[in-house]
Amino acid sequence: MKLTPIPSQSHEAIYRVEEADCGLLGIIAIHSTQLGPAAGGLRMRPYSDFDAALEDVQRLSAGMTYKNAAAGLPLGGGKAVILGDPATQKSPELLRAFGRAIESLNGRYVTAEDMGMSPADMATLAEVTRSVAGLPEGEFASGDPSPITARGIFNAITTAHEIRHGSRHLAGRRVSLQGLGHVGWYLASFLHEAGAQLIVTDVDAARVAAAVAEFGATAVGLDEIYGVEADIFAPCAIGAILNATTIPQLKVSIVAGGANNQLATPADAEALAARGILYAPDFVANGGGIINVATEILEIRDRAGFVAEKLAALDDTMRRILTEAARQGVSPDRVAIATVDQMLQAPHAAE
Ligand code: NAD
Repeated sequence: MKLTPIPSQSHEAIYRVEEADCGLLGIIAIHSTQLGPAAGGLRMRPYSDFDAALEDVQRLSAGMTYKNAAAGLPLGGGKAVILGDPATQKSPELLRAFGRAIESLNGRYVTAEDMGMSPADMATLAEVTRSVAGLPEGEFASGDPSPITARGIFNAITTAHEIRHGSRHLAGRRVSLQGLGHVGWYLASFLHEAGAQLIVTDVDAARVAAAVAEFGATAVGLDEIYGVEADIFAPCAIGAILNATTIPQLKVSIVAGGANNQLATPADAEALAARGILYAPDFVANGGGIINVATEILEIRDRAGFVAEKLAALDDTMRRILTEAARQGVSPDRVAIATVDQMLQAPHAAE
């Protein structure tokens, strides 16, 4: 296994990882270890070329610095990618070779499951490195993060609603929900419990039918979801869905959901603000997922207590961001980024 540093202006360290025998080519990007070990998942997918993978891993690892810091965790930001098709090119030898590369960094980067990876793959990595979370079993195994992610999003919706409308009650409120997967389904159940009316869409017709049956949801088409009359839009499927085409269609006062990278460009945060739509920054709203994984990375014994404390702190952070954005008359996304930048510049951060 060969680990070659790639010079970077934006990252603390980036390494090209290769081993010819098993066909491994990958990258580990450590954006920041200022607040703690760089934590972020390992993704495997067939990139068009090495540069495309390098761009993706840098964007994702920087994003993890912001997500982990906003969640109040003693973790920095990192990410890793393996170039290749997980269905045909993933092997235990390849995973172990990548695991040895992670281990050689002596805990500076801690990995977890991401696209193209499974809990069983994390167990294979764990044969050769201690720096891995998302294991299927073990004393600190943290399991499916989706319920905690959804709880954090539910809190974000409630707090945004309070700031915008002066009430935390969601009974009778209309919520349009895009994506009924792991996170979306739990969120739908929490919203239903709170008395909200759901308008849902998903590419998987069976999930939509189940939500209609279980929650009395109204089903709409994939592209219709943007234009429905509702109070809150909760994107819980894919990224870049807040863009120049969709934002003008929105008829909601709040956007708060769990999908990563909802904004197609930073300017779209300003476009939402200009339309008077309160946007709960995604990397804060969906921080419950990394809070859950952090219990495993940090080997927390009182898991429920830690999660409850961090979710409450995350909610406070969201409240401060939304309040400050309103006071300054700028987008919450801009305030959220500035808030983390300040945390990273604080003297204690470098200790
Ligand atoms: P998932 O794959 O379980 O669910 C995604 C759902 O979206 C699926 O039901 C899929 O059919 C649907 N979908 C895909 N494209 C769609 C489209 N164009 N329109 C409508 N529906 C579509 O994934 P998940 O774990 O629920 O994650 C959802 C989002 O939240 C992702 O962006 C993920 O990165 C983010 N996220 C998840 C977690 C977590 O704990 N799982 C944590 C943080 C962020």
